Amino acid sequence: MSASVIDFIATEARFGARNYEPIGVVLSRGEGVWVWDTEGNRYLDCLSAYSAVSQGHCHPKILAAMVEQAHRLTLTSRAFHNDQLALFYEEIAALTGSHKVLPMNSGAEAVESAIKSVRKWGYEVKGVPDGQAEIIVCANNFHGRTLGIVGFSTDPETRTHFGPFAPGFRIIPFGDAAALEGAITPNTVAFLVEPIQGEAGVVIPPAGYFTEVRELCTANNVMLVLDEIQTGLGRTGKLLAEEHEGIEADVTLLGKALSGGFYPVSAVLSNNDVLGTLRPGQHGSTFGGNPLACAVARAAIRVLVEEGMIDNAARQGARFLEGLKDIRANTIREVRGRGLMLAVELHPEAGRARRYCEALQAKGILAKDTHEQTIRIAPPLVITSDQVDWALERLATTLTQDFS
Ligand SMILES: *Cc1c(COP(=O)(O)O)cnc(C)c1O
Repeated sequence: MSASVIDFIATEARFGARNYEPIGVVLSRGEGVWVWDTEGNRYLDCLSAYSAVSQGHCHPKILAAMVEQAHRLTLTSRAFHNDQLALFYEEIAALTGSHKVLPMNSGAEAVESAIKSVRKWGYEVKGVPDGQAEIIVCANNFHGRTLGIVGFSTDPETRTHFGPFAPGFRIIPFGDAAALEGAITPNTVAFLVEPIQGEAGVVIPPAGYFTEVRELCTANNVMLVLDEIQTGLGRTGKLLAEEHEGIEADVTLLGKALSGGFYPVSAVLSNNDVLGTLRPGQHGSTFGGNPLACAVARAAIRVLVEEGMIDNAARQGARFLEGLKDIRANTIREVRGRGLMLAVELHPEAGRARRYCEALQAKGILAKDTHEQTIRIAPPLVITSDQVDWALERLATTLTQDFS
């Protein structure tokens, strides 16, 4: 490592809160699926900023929209109208078939906003006694880092010494429809769940699970809230992961790729009932729905659709998964995935996934371990067949090494 690289890392460590443990690479440039470090080494990005850069790094059309809008108007607050918000609403509603949209910034804010909205809906529409609303969530969920959200996490690292936490959440196992049925009470207002648990290690529920979930929610007048912040916008080879299940959520949460990685933009999408309960002054955000965010999101959605990225994710995801399954290495316990949301789970004896990610870095691939034994693979949706094959070659040689 050159002096400058050591300096960036050391300076971060000296001044920054140590709430991350990054791989030892300092990135300074990105284009499409590629990123470069400060020394000019090139890497295939197989994390895509946790799926926020699905459209590829520095997509020229999103960049152009951002620069153009930044020259005209960036922030008005919602005290006034702006000429981008209505267009964003119209386009995202048409694309997803939603009735109402609430724009926010981070994913966690979208989750918090959905929790507030479904509770309000519960009291004002469903008739739940005030203060009694219950929301059902799944074990091993990841919905963000705010206090409200970490309070219903089951990951000790996420929760420990951050309490006390808010009541009103019930935790059930993921992929178990009978558990959902057993947990619903007359005061249940919503079931909040990820279509595929990403941070938990790309956990795909059993076939038919979401059909049953949909039926149970409908039968009990419980709002089905799908957190598609990571799975949405093409990542799994469909616009929304719910399409694989043949269901429709009552409330859908988007974030991450909604801006193609340029800016924090998130949204709550719902039918009329849920977001319809919010009246002026009851919820808000200074930056939510600002014209710069809206212009960026509009461009990010447009290129996703016009450039065929969703179909490409399905095609290249299938190729990638097949290629991973063909790797004969006794380090591998299981490979799984849907679209370009892929994971390689290692045998416990194979050593920590982090070691493999560091070995991949040396071969020009940036990937991230999750939960000790799993390597997550989620490249931008613009990846080509040649690039998939290039990555597979390097993964194969790395996974046949032994770091135990
Ligand atoms: C990343 C993520 C969030 C939180 O998004 P932030 O922008 O980091 O607040 C919520 N839910 C899921 C499923 C995510 O992957």
